[in-house]
Amino acid sequence: MSEPKKVVVIGSANADLVVALNRRPGPGETVMGADLVVSPGGKGANQAVAAGMLGAPVVFLGAVGEDEHGELLLGSLRGAGVDVAHVARPDRPTGNAYIMVTPDGENSIVVSPGANSAVAEADVDAARGVLAEAAVMVLSLEIPLSTVAHAVASAAELGVRPVLNLSPTAELPDEVLAALDPLVVNEHEAAWLLGAEGSPEDLATRLLDVGPRSVVVTIGAKGAVVADRAGVHTVPSPQVKPVDTTGAGDAFTGALAGRLAAGEDLVEAARFAVRVAATSVTRHGAQPSYPRADEVIG
Ligand code: ADP
Repeated sequence: MSEPKKVVVIGSANADLVVALNRRPGPGETVMGADLVVSPGGKGANQAVAAGMLGAPVVFLGAVGEDEHGELLLGSLRGAGVDVAHVARPDRPTGNAYIMVTPDGENSIVVSPGANSAVAEADVDAARGVLAEAAVMVLSLEIPLSTVAHAVASAAELGVRPVLNLSPTAELPDEVLAALDPLVVNEHEAAWLLGAEGSPEDLATRLLDVGPRSVVVTIGAKGAVVADRAGVHTVPSPQVKPVDTTGAGDAFTGALAGRLAAGEDLVEAARFAVRVAATSVTRHGAQPSYPRADEVIG
């Protein structure tokens, strides 16, 4: 059998500083929370760890500081079997995400990007040999948009399939949008991009008209909708009792990328990804909540 094809994740790595509280503070208000929990996160590192935990061969390209949080992230990536040879250590603090989690499992997040701001086009070029060996490239927008655009252009040149999670939302150049296969968004991001509300199926269909080769709209506890030129498919999620949805979308995207790299089609890959993401919401944290293949529910 031939070597499994690699997933390259180009994105952010953040230490998640998580406080559980009964309700979010309003403007000017102070609310007391539970003890601080520090755990490895950041959209890119999350996606890489999710795919790595499931057994996919993964390379992570990103940056962390020369500090304790940087070591935490490298430890988590290595623990999931992710290749960290392309993680830079610039003279910036490791990125941080300040996360408030309420009893309904919802979260509110502030990100301080730190070292993630230093992930540059030159880093993508320096890893070109690795990119050329990959089947799938995964991107998200907690690193500079210019780097993301350059990475997608490089993927197109090298015949690598670009998967992009439009989070946090940002305007993408048309040529970047057109290359995506799929664009992955949640319902809020989909509505933002279209400037209109609608059913998830409707949003997915209309997003396809905006340019990407395929679209996935994730719909929380309901699962996901997949749209490509062949049609629109709703992929239901297993029902679970959520305790912490932090990083659920990244679990979905990482799992999806691993399965696409292994040769599955988009609908099959999404059927697996909703099971992985549903498993992750039954546990606390982002990366610490991600399952091994034998732990995936459903
Ligand atoms: P994001 O986390 O990016 O905001 P969603 O809320 O749509 O995006 O969640 C992403 C994926 O995580 C969903 O497609 C689903 O597979 C899974 N998920 C999220 N919340 C739940 C839940 N309460 N129960 C089961 N699965 C969930």
